[in-house]
Amino acid sequence: MSSGHEAAFWADEEVKLLQPGRPHVVRDSKTPSGAVPISGLRGPIISDALFRTFKANALDVRFVYTIDDYDPMDSQSMKERAGMAEHMGKPLYMIPSPDPSVGTDFADYHATRFIALFAGLGITPEFHRMRDLYRSGALDKQIDLVLRNAETIRAIHKRVANVDHPEGWLPIAVICENCGRIGTTLATDYDGTTVAYECRRDYVEWAEGCGHVGRVAPFGGTAKLLWNEQWCAQWDHFGVTYEEGGKDLLTAGGSRERSNEIYREVWKREPPPGLQHEFFTFGGKKMASSKGIGAEGVRPRRGCVSRGRGERPREDLAPLPGLTNARPAGVPHSLHDGRELAPDPQHQARG
Ligand SMILES: [Zn+2]
Repeated sequence: MSSGHEAAFWADEEVKLLQPGRPHVVRDSKTPSGAVPISGLRGPIISDALFRTFKANALDVRFVYTIDDYDPMDSQSMKERAGMAEHMGKPLYMIPSPDPSVGTDFADYHATRFIALFAGLGITPEFHRMRDLYRSGALDKQIDLVLRNAETIRAIHKRVANVDHPEGWLPIAVICENCGRIGTTLATDYDGTTVAYECRRDYVEWAEGCGHVGRVAPFGGTAKLLWNEQWCAQWDHFGVTYEEGGKDLLTAGGSRERSNEIYREVWKREPPPGLQHEFFTFGGKKMASSKGIGAEGVRPRRGCVSRGRGERPREDLAPLPGLTNARPAGVPHSLHDGRELAPDPQHQARG
């Protein structure tokens, strides 16, 4: 039986979502905040399978992969490591590299190690680093749009996810000019050119700000959009027309739904469609992303992946070596031994 032929089936279904005769962009991303568990490969493998299928169906398509290296270091497990406490809240690209022979900084080190796995899998997207996008001013137009619509966005966060942001809140994080942290600043009062910000000591639990108060033009790399708004900005910048995602992001009130609503209301455009992928299991147990086996510790090969939209996973398909997707229908998202699945660390504290 040709598993390859059957494996194309689910991706073929997705082709119908894309309008022929216009350019298409499939996007995926990674936050290089530490060693990536093997489950971190599910997204690139699925996105690549979709990209290949779209191409095989004569669609004009690009595969864009962004490295989210402007994100703050917010990992609790990192905080406990020697020398890391002082770097909590800094952008990942501002933290020293564990091994300068591998990568120039912390983000580059982990991104390089993760991306090195792609070639062996035949995955060759266009890579884009957020530091380059922000510093070049490529996202300035989107930053201005978000800031001018901050009140609308604040209402969407409240309506869709029941998250309360303070009045005057702006969905942007300024890099503190005093201490260099980006995760500790609260920005307010956009006047069309600059924003006010305060680096708060108690703004987040995982890092302590320095108390600095200032005003800065939030363009050209001095600030980054918050998670949901940055997502929309990338859809707009790259012209993304398809983006799949894990179920942890696609739940009601979840991160994707928030971004979808922001894209509709602020950009006045329909967000890209994208299927939900199931969590991989390993040796019969669901892999909690935060506890999984390091992706660098294995030598993965291309295989077939299956997905779920609530239907029974395709157990007839050949799994990736060592990976299966055998969660029977109806089994809740928890480990077989009853422990809850830990959220993907990439998506914690991004709401
Ligand atoms: Zn500061």
